[in-house]
Amino acid sequence: MTTALTLLKDVFGYGAFRGPQAEIIDHVIAGGDALVLMPTGGGKSLCYQIPALARQQAGHGVAIVVSPLIALMHDQVGALHEAGVEAAFLNSTLSGEAANAVEKRLLRGELTLLYAAPERVTTPRFLELLDRLREAGKLSLFAIDEAHCVSQWGHDFRPEYRALAVLHERYAGVPRIALTATADGLTRADIVQHLQLEEARQFVSSFDRPNIRYSIVEKTDPTQQLLRFIEGEHAGEAGIVYCQSRKRVEEVAEILCRQGMDALPYHAGLDAEVRQKHQDRFLREDGVVMTATIAFGMGIDKPDVRFVAHLDLPKNIEGYYQETGRAGRDGLPSDAWMAYGLQDVVNQRRMIDESPAGEEFKQGLRGKLDALLALAEATDCRRVRLLAYFGEQSTPCGNCDNCVAPPAVWDGTEAARMLLSTIYRVQQANGLHFGAGHIMDVLRGKVTDKVNQFGHQKLSTFGIGAALSEQQLRGVLRQLIATGALQVDASSYNTLHLTEGSRAVLKGEQPVALRESINQPAGRVRRERGSRKGAPPAAAAGLTEAAQQRFAALKAWRADVARSHNLPAYVIFHDATLAAVAAADPRSVRDLEGISGIGAAKLEKYGPGVLDVLQAMA
Ligand code: ADP
Ligand code: ZN
Repeated sequence: MTTALTLLKDVFGYGAFRGPQAEIIDHVIAGGDALVLMPTGGGKSLCYQIPALARQQAGHGVAIVVSPLIALMHDQVGALHEAGVEAAFLNSTLSGEAANAVEKRLLRGELTLLYAAPERVTTPRFLELLDRLREAGKLSLFAIDEAHCVSQWGHDFRPEYRALAVLHERYAGVPRIALTATADGLTRADIVQHLQLEEARQFVSSFDRPNIRYSIVEKTDPTQQLLRFIEGEHAGEAGIVYCQSRKRVEEVAEILCRQGMDALPYHAGLDAEVRQKHQDRFLREDGVVMTATIAFGMGIDKPDVRFVAHLDLPKNIEGYYQETGRAGRDGLPSDAWMAYGLQDVVNQRRMIDESPAGEEFKQGLRGKLDALLALAEATDCRRVRLLAYFGEQSTPCGNCDNCVAPPAVWDGTEAARMLLSTIYRVQQANGLHFGAGHIMDVLRGKVTDKVNQFGHQKLSTFGIGAALSEQQLRGVLRQLIATGALQVDASSYNTLHLTEGSRAVLKGEQPVALRESINQPAGRVRRERGSRKGAPPAAAAGLTEAAQQRFAALKAWRADVARSHNLPAYVIFHDATLAAVAAADPRSVRDLEGISGIGAAKLEKYGPGVLDVLQAMA
């Protein structure tokens, strides 16, 4: 039997397995069940594709891949086809005739992999097909992708997934591999229970994504900050900008377009057809920026998303990690960038307070939000905190904003005490609560109409904080609210209220450490990296000027090929592969051999075309 490593090299053109891939693949080839937890971009697909190839060659027949991502099946199968693997899909987008043709190929034993949606797999008709394969001994493997869909705890719950237990009951002995990028224990337990994977070996990878740089900046002028970030670091590259509301998504897309970027909106309020068109353009073309609500993302397996930006705070760390995880699947340097401010804290807290859920549930949501706020306020390594949240210990990463440029920290304890005592005093004086703006005015000694109206210049704290800037005070307020030492009452004009937690701060028992200004470090990071404005894209970094020209020409050639095959560009070759070709400047098909990402089928199909492009430039 061909070894897994040979298949990896010949079919996919890669030189080595990543992380636990080899172990997983060996286990499944040998007929074992597996539950694979691996972060996005970890390389889950090969964990069932290579066993499918190996088991097919050993005479075991076809592998069935269950996936909820109907919209992506065409491209996934296309990618296998490019690599010379016989694969097909069955889903509701196929005509009856086309579906019949696929079924015939399936029964004739012509397929190595068949992709199907869960609701299709569990129909009587499909199960009969499987019965026939099984009787002939030609059912080699079940791969259940996005396995967390079986769990109600995640936000992708699909009841159809529960019915997949039938695969175990009806086809006992056919190995099954379930895969997910969702890390938490509850979801894992649900998968084991509902898919009856008690006997399966569990493979849990580190959830670290070392190529992603995490940065969180203080929100001052978010749109301008976003523009500076994209233009400075990712001009012309593909990225996702997440915003909370549909309206904001539209606005930001428009602003980016006005700046000459290729930006598209995506949210649940758009027609399904428009959404599909925008998703296709994002996947297929180079350098499209998707401005989106969280409705966009599940199963986006575009490998060269160079940045994920958040203009609004997500609800929790799980959401943040899943969304930022869509950057850099190809392993090249990528950015997760977020702008975060006082208003975000107020909004997220209000949404929880106003939700109709029970108090206990809300308490859970608040706890999760607090963990995210602590991450945003952190002055130490972001990655250490992220991984710790998922139960992994690590050491400072050297690749987040706080590691690259440790922020200056100032002691905000005194400022916090002044703020809290001002809030206490205005309430004592009038029996009324006020919002952040007025409290800051009193503390800084600004005589406004409101100050006059309530006689607040007579308070003992009036003007004692004159030396503090509004930005500093906002920072202190944000942290007080984030840590629960202060509460915002959304039902009455966002007024500020003292809490149980205020006392320790007032007494000076709880120090308040603040970053000097969260937006400073990002600037420093950029300077240290050297201005990347006009710099080559991640894959081309380090190429000579001549090689960069070859890279550009190869990308243009790839765009043509992708268009004529109706496939995304990355399915033809990844950026990293084209960059390696551009650097090597090969003169013969022989020279192309062994370049990562060029397997036997692609070498034969595209080798001559690639050489032509290079020849024309030599
Ligand atoms: P996941 O499904 O875990 O998010 P994928 O299976 O889509 O990840 O793989 C992410 C990217 O990494 C893909 O572009 C894939 O081709 C690439 N990849 C996977 N395994 C390897 C490997 N061993 N060597 C090189 N590239 C790999
Ligand atoms: Zn770090």
